[in-house]
Amino acid sequence: MPTIKFQPQAASPPTHLQHPEPIRKIPLALYAHIPFCKVKCHYCAFDSVAVHSDTFIQRWLHAFLHDLQFQAQNIGQNRHRISSIFLGGGTPSIIPAKIIEQILEHLTTIWSMDDHPEITLEANPDSTTPAKLDAWHSMGINRLSLGVQAMDDHRLALLGRPHTAHQARQTFEAARNAGFDNINLDLIHGSPGHTLDSWRHELTRAMMLQPEHLSCYSLMVESGTPLERLLNSGTMQLPDEETAANLFFLTRDLLEDQGWERYEISNHARNRRYCQHNLGIWRSGDYLGIGPSAHGKITLEDGSVLRSINHWPLETYLDLLEHNHPPHCWVEHASPKEAAAECLLMGLRLTDGIPRALYHDIAGIDLVDHKKKEVDFLVGEGLLVIDSCSIRLTSRGLDFLDECLTRLI
Ligand code: SF4
Repeated sequence: MPTIKFQPQAASPPTHLQHPEPIRKIPLALYAHIPFCKVKCHYCAFDSVAVHSDTFIQRWLHAFLHDLQFQAQNIGQNRHRISSIFLGGGTPSIIPAKIIEQILEHLTTIWSMDDHPEITLEANPDSTTPAKLDAWHSMGINRLSLGVQAMDDHRLALLGRPHTAHQARQTFEAARNAGFDNINLDLIHGSPGHTLDSWRHELTRAMMLQPEHLSCYSLMVESGTPLERLLNSGTMQLPDEETAANLFFLTRDLLEDQGWERYEISNHARNRRYCQHNLGIWRSGDYLGIGPSAHGKITLEDGSVLRSINHWPLETYLDLLEHNHPPHCWVEHASPKEAAAECLLMGLRLTDGIPRALYHDIAGIDLVDHKKKEVDFLVGEGLLVIDSCSIRLTSRGLDFLDECLTRLI
């Protein structure tokens, strides 16, 4: 594993990071972590705090723009164009729209952008209003990701979400009225008491809205969360393993049957409206992370990869920037071998898999030559398909993603 080097005092980036030339045309995605939420959901371990006051938001904004400046200096912003922006969190919809506008203005002043960058904003139903939706649309945000999570009020309460299913539907309709034609709904399956019937009902209600994109993840129990405490105390129980697996299969089959193509293990799109930001990352693209706990990855001239991780929690992040220190720590170069492992980890999640040329570019060797025995085994088991252009898991292979990755990495 790479070693993390904490360098809060280092004002300059490592010399090898000065003006890196990409070895191939690598898209650069920008992720902005906006660390405010109304309340903490029971399952959440993200770095976010309750929104304090306008003064505190201004303090955070000042630090955030400073962080952006540091990142721009680090990688030589003149040499890279931003292909997508993802305003995530936290809950970006909770802060005033004019702050979002300031962020985008600042960003586009510093960086060159692709001609039609995808700009996504994550929004929660309880903090989204028609006025905000109009403002976001006018400022160029062209994709909305709604944190719906469940289409049933009992389940929303169980997850600790501060909105109702009715509010989620209203917000979706308001987003359409404001002109958004690219909307994702985030949903969670596998929460306590979830049955195949109740999930089918929720998924059907979500599909009736006809979003372009659906992200359906199974519930993860994160350490230190209220959910973990409730489960440990025996107050509630997760569905058993077989039910959890069947919830996953039901999601895949129902969505595909109704026209939402599964292009990634947990992500489905109609009419090829894939999330370009995530697609870039799954395809080994580079990314910048702005905000506390955000991660970045830049590919250097020699093909090695440098990573950055921003400090957190929020107070530490603010304190560093207010004392003119970079907010990030550097992670040692990932060797081409580590970069190749990551290419498999990310790329095999996609149903299209990985272009063989991309893997060769990153690893310096063809996967079939590199892992012949393992590849032959997986192909023989009907889990992997290799043709002249790509390496991909079959539908059955995706059901055994972890096992396939363990063999190949
Ligand atoms: S809204 Fe999202 S980031 Fe905020 S507490 Fe809930 S799950 Fe976490």
